[in-house]
Amino acid sequence: TKWVYTFGDGKAEGAAEMRNLLGGKGANLAEMSNLGLPVPPGFTISTEVCTWYYAHGKTYPAELKGQVEAALAHIAALTGRTFGDPANPQLVSVRSGARASMPGMMDTVLNLGLNDGTVDAVAEASGDARFAYDSYRRFIQMYSNVVLDFPHHHFEEVLDAFKEEKGYTLDTDLSAADWKVIVGKYKDLVLHELGAPFPQDPHDQLWGAIGAVFSSWMNQRAIVYRRLHAIPESWGTAVNVQAMVFGNMGDTSATGVAFTRNPSTGENALYGEFLINAQGEDVVAGIRTPQNITETARIAAGSNKPSMETALPEVFTEFQRIAGVLEGHYRDMQDLEFTVERGKLWMLQTRSGKRTAKAALRIAVEMAHDGVITKEEAIARVDPAALDQLLHPMLDPKADKAVIGSGLPASPGAASGEMVFSADEAELAKTQGRKVILVRIETSPEDIHGMHAAEGILTTRGGMTSHAAVVARGMGKPCVCGAGTIRVDYANGTITSGGVTLRKGDILTIDGGTGQVIAGAVPMLQPELSGEFGTLMGWADAVRKLKVRANAETPLDARTAKSFGAEGIGLSRTEHMFFDAGRIKSVREMILADDEAGRRTALAKLLPFQRQDFVELFEIMDGLPVTIRLLDPPLHEFLPHTEAEIAEVAEALGVSPQKLAARKKEFDEFNPMLGFRGCRLAIAFPEIAEMQARAIFEAAVAAEKSTGKPVVPEVMVPLITGKREFDLVKEVIDATAKKVEEETGARLTYQVGTMIELPRAALKADEIAETAEFFSYGTNDLTQTTYGISRDDAGTFLGPYVSKGIMEVDPFVSIDVEGVGELVKIATERGRKTRPNIKLGICGEHGGDPASVAFCHEVGLDYVSCSPFRVPIARLAAAQAAL
Ligand code: PEP
Ligand code: MG
Repeated sequence: TKWVYTFGDGKAEGAAEMRNLLGGKGANLAEMSNLGLPVPPGFTISTEVCTWYYAHGKTYPAELKGQVEAALAHIAALTGRTFGDPANPQLVSVRSGARASMPGMMDTVLNLGLNDGTVDAVAEASGDARFAYDSYRRFIQMYSNVVLDFPHHHFEEVLDAFKEEKGYTLDTDLSAADWKVIVGKYKDLVLHELGAPFPQDPHDQLWGAIGAVFSSWMNQRAIVYRRLHAIPESWGTAVNVQAMVFGNMGDTSATGVAFTRNPSTGENALYGEFLINAQGEDVVAGIRTPQNITETARIAAGSNKPSMETALPEVFTEFQRIAGVLEGHYRDMQDLEFTVERGKLWMLQTRSGKRTAKAALRIAVEMAHDGVITKEEAIARVDPAALDQLLHPMLDPKADKAVIGSGLPASPGAASGEMVFSADEAELAKTQGRKVILVRIETSPEDIHGMHAAEGILTTRGGMTSHAAVVARGMGKPCVCGAGTIRVDYANGTITSGGVTLRKGDILTIDGGTGQVIAGAVPMLQPELSGEFGTLMGWADAVRKLKVRANAETPLDARTAKSFGAEGIGLSRTEHMFFDAGRIKSVREMILADDEAGRRTALAKLLPFQRQDFVELFEIMDGLPVTIRLLDPPLHEFLPHTEAEIAEVAEALGVSPQKLAARKKEFDEFNPMLGFRGCRLAIAFPEIAEMQARAIFEAAVAAEKSTGKPVVPEVMVPLITGKREFDLVKEVIDATAKKVEEETGARLTYQVGTMIELPRAALKADEIAETAEFFSYGTNDLTQTTYGISRDDAGTFLGPYVSKGIMEVDPFVSIDVEGVGELVKIATERGRKTRPNIKLGICGEHGGDPASVAFCHEVGLDYVSCSPFRVPIARLAAAQAAL
């Protein structure tokens, strides 16, 4: 079996496609070598050796030793130096390299092969004893740390003590003789602390490092990282052994990292940093300030240290050429590592560079315009979830932040403002032109006006589909929810977290993209919906099969949704319209009335408001489909709480406050989410459905006149469990339509359909489809009822469920394909069996989650409906699913 693959001098036994066998780093070193680029010669021990190693009690295949020897000879043939030769030694680096980049594993050992003998040969060959001993002490420290697991700080203490004794301040103050003394001290330290001398035989060193790489595959950090990123243990890591080149051989030597395009803006310009006379770890260590690669970047950064372009002009020209070759070859922005040894450039790594959403968008679109990649590839290259970053303000990553706690990143974007603790305070502040963050233990529909007025919302209880989360996403407001470590004290107007107390009026910042809660203000970066955004979205729209609608009920939401490209409204939650001033009182009257006559009196007051709401929605959507759902939430959410509120409603109903308070008690429920809600309201009080249907149809007639376009309302019944419930409500709707036609003389075209959000409804979909003209999957309630997990309270235990692998992700965020998804599939099949052309959509929060959108595409739904700010995400995710 072939276990070892060599590269160098314009040739390689491997190639980029052999990533699984050679790891990312090894495959790309081979590829660069094949491209004729200057890569120090070396070899890769394959990932199969790693697998073999663990399958055979941490031993190696018998042929490996011979193959490694042969590969070392290959290096010697190309460099003229021999590994382990005391007179003319070749030093090597040893690096790990799995298929996917994996922080947490052993990284790098440099200068391997140095010992008490070879150090002098290196001194002589380089003519620089200081360099040789400096390299040797670095090697002892690095090898001891990475291979022998002996912490850095022991060495640093020795070095600091020596510098103090000598009166030195900088490492550069040490002479060759000083470093020689340090090397002696380091070796004594290892002998003393580890009970064995520092290995002097280069071959022992090499096998020690190879063993450390393979062992690091199973260290705790690597295991955790693999679990978090779903990387299988079976992949294993490769080991790369490569001839050392030195960036620390004087002022014509250097080392650095660069991106072929700017990774934060996407600008097509080489971008990177380097250090003269330094070794790789110096750049990362951040002790010295690195210099810019290009002159343009140096000027932009206001740096007075020369750029590589001026300091090493020939090297720069060569590097620029190579960066172009690599980007063109891989057809993507590359992240490069290089070293310059006495004026000669060497490439040490290339890989696809990580980038911000903004950069991803710009790079993908520009590369497609330049014909480097296809439009389909451009679509596939942008992570839909990352588009969120572009649509909202975000915290300046460079700013200092006093993080006092964190919760769930419920709705993206960052916001700052004075802390207030009630919706009314938030509203008042807004009228006074003050910006606020609304802080609540949890929110309810009563807080909506305050949520509207606030810049952002923070709750300390509730999950990703809690009221605060859903409503905030709908409004496109930043929201952090379920920040459990923060204690809210409404009475004293304070929040406390980790010993920090903030008071009402103090400035608070939340980051709804990360869940961070920060004391004080933080500078923000504003979104720019640049031309590339529109371009990529246009390409996405051309390939996707799913339509994308929005969940919206206010005119603002509807306009936002349309501007983000929504093709209709998939869910208008009418209850959100019931809290506005002038209405809530009538809503309460309606609920608390003793009889139908009383309810009808109150409903008559609500009718004009509802009608006007719908007229506006129809007009804004201008001929696009609009689905309006009948009243859904448990009635108690609307009930009066304070004595004053109770008195007000009692007066309107002409009853005593005592009597009203008693009536209110009748609405208490232990499990309101499983209680008197959804179509159950319309079954018990058909006059509510009648009023809403009338408002919808009268609005349709009016909007048809004003827009001149046909309006085809889709009336939706919530929370049914079977056909009979649906039919009873549909009867009311149809009868009302008939009446409105008679009264107005207009002809109405409309559809009546239902939410499928309870498991029983999914199972009975064939019967339901006999009369229902469309289904909209309410996967929030369907997840809640399929799992039997409360969508409001699940936050307290979902964490351990996810970390223990019971669930991969929060099922309220990304659809549980196996369970909830199965019910969606069943309902789809059964519904279509009865009514082949039934219109099918989803309007749970999953409609804006890329993985769930992919699922909806597979199942063959007609559309997804999501919060306005997630419309672009859904459009892109739907396109990717269709590629
Ligand atoms: C659902 O249950 O998925 C849904 C969209 O309805 P709501 O979130 O309003 O209960
Ligand atoms: Mg629901």
